[in-house]
Amino acid sequence: MHDKPSHTPLARRLLKAAAGVVAGLAVLAASTAVHAQNVIRDTEIEQFLHKRTRPILDAAGLDADKVQYLLVASDDLNAFATFRLRMGLNTGLILEAKTPNELFGVIAHETGHLSGGHMMRTDEIERSARAPMAVALGLGIIAAMAGSPDGAMAIIGSSPTFGTLNALRYMQTQESAADIAGIKALERAGMSGKGLVDFFYNLRDYEIYSNAERYAFFRTHPLSRERIQSLTRLAQQQPHYKEVDPPEVVEEFRIVQAKLAGFMDDPVKTFKAYPESDTSYPARYARVIATYKQGNWDKALTDLDMLIAEQPENPYLHELKGQIYFETGRAVLAKPEHLKSVELMPQAPLLRVNLGQTLIATGDRADATQAVFHLRESLKYEEDNSFAWRQLAQAYDALNEPGMARLATAEEQFYNGNYEGARTSAVWAQKYFEPTTPEFRRARDLVMVTSSEMGVNPVEGETKRRRPY
Ligand SMILES: [Zn+2]
Repeated sequence: MHDKPSHTPLARRLLKAAAGVVAGLAVLAASTAVHAQNVIRDTEIEQFLHKRTRPILDAAGLDADKVQYLLVASDDLNAFATFRLRMGLNTGLILEAKTPNELFGVIAHETGHLSGGHMMRTDEIERSARAPMAVALGLGIIAAMAGSPDGAMAIIGSSPTFGTLNALRYMQTQESAADIAGIKALERAGMSGKGLVDFFYNLRDYEIYSNAERYAFFRTHPLSRERIQSLTRLAQQQPHYKEVDPPEVVEEFRIVQAKLAGFMDDPVKTFKAYPESDTSYPARYARVIATYKQGNWDKALTDLDMLIAEQPENPYLHELKGQIYFETGRAVLAKPEHLKSVELMPQAPLLRVNLGQTLIATGDRADATQAVFHLRESLKYEEDNSFAWRQLAQAYDALNEPGMARLATAEEQFYNGNYEGARTSAVWAQKYFEPTTPEFRRARDLVMVTSSEMGVNPVEGETKRRRPY
């Protein structure tokens, strides 16, 4: 479980503002990406990553609770380390790994970049890291199919992108250092470095024979023959080289791959990879998702119910059922499913965001009040989840609390990196509160910090931008 409320980015930014650091508008300007790639969120996948890589992160001397994985929806193979302990993993990399150990090997290598301070700093990563927007895998794509393109575009349109990432490169010396640090961290964690070596060997041939840099991973992480050789030698020297993945880890990994394949791949491809003859749980899980993606909702629900009958306490199955109902316009039916997932996993913020979103959609006033509660709970764990702030603003609007709604919108825009919008909303929000209230102070802090980020005088900005209400 990853149950510690996260740090407070606003507090950190206030400190930064106080110290006179002005970030400027580069962040807002970032972004006409040619190959836009979304960051996706999924509790089940994130839980797997956090739980199973904790020993590696601990061994590398990193604070495992603070490491954040950014799942980038892309077929291409890539992984990268960024500042503030954020590690990007392309979904293609997870799908392509043959064993959990291969994935863990790549993560250990990236851990070497993190602990070595080899940071990739771009405006896009900064922006993406700040704004984990998409709530659930596949959300948006399916909402569009269901005939609610507005909702879909709202999510897809505001999702962060990684357009220029491919242009980045670590240096050869950094690669070697990350290899050594990675192998050592794996050894201390009692894991083999074989997966990392295998991963390189499996992919290297494509690189050599196609005479093209096919995989982004090798563009960002240059690979030489010498590097592979010394990595192999070092891995083989370690006492845990022959260690293999425990069966339960393999099973969890198969489930994660099945889920990703179901959501990311074309259903035809998924049905081929997971044919009816395969009656394993991961295969049936992948087929339920592919069936749903095809628009065959009734069959997806029927098959999903069979999985739920076998595993009634699996929060992710209830989450998926709730998602199917929600995205097909049946919020009232989605509600008990999302409630159940939250009941089974109260510490998972994204499950509460799903519930909050559903409670708003039922149109019931009592549900909107409950939505506020669950969204606020989720924000205790992820203060920077701009999607949750957006939902919270909607819940307050439904409850006719415009001051709270504008304040939540200011937070949403702030965490999205839209400082101008955040400042405008915060100035607006201030007018609804007495100066002694915490809400007023929060709005004032947001005006201060965004003014500082934008390099304008907060007081001047305030008077200039006064609104009619
Ligand atoms: Zn590297």
